[in-house]
Amino acid sequence: MYQFSRSIYRELAPMLAAKGGVACESKQRMLDACESTMNRLVSDRRYFAKPTKALFSDLRNLFPIQDQLVVYRVVDRNVRLAVQYLDSVPAEELVPAGGRECRAHTRRGTPCQREPLPGRDYCPSHKHLEEDGTVVMPASAEAELSIAA
Ligand SMILES: [Zn+2]
Repeated sequence: MYQFSRSIYRELAPMLAAKGGVACESKQRMLDACESTMNRLVSDRRYFAKPTKALFSDLRNLFPIQDQLVVYRVVDRNVRLAVQYLDSVPAEELVPAGGRECRAHTRRGTPCQREPLPGRDYCPSHKHLEEDGTVVMPASAEAELSIAA
């Protein structure tokens, strides 16, 4: 899905209204907006009724008024291509930008950042969590909770 956000970015970056240091910030905002739209298309497409409109309204303020029609067309074309692409590939092959992460937490309580096994929600070292169907709280955490209560 990156290809569509990058394509919007490449086409629109030269038209950004801002100059100098502000331009960098605008470019970053534009890229973030494009990528979050693409991510949302991948993960939440059924409830994302108007992706073109949503992305255009995120981007329009970055561009001079006379360029906004062009901006709209670039966004619309690439969003359509992205939706066509989504229609053509099986859902399990779609990976939100930024990669997938294991759903487990490490012993220190931070999210596990390893890549899950294909088709699974957990990485190789946490795959037992998925097989159990339940997430088991470590004994120490349970003890702390009962002390707190
Ligand atoms: Zn893990």
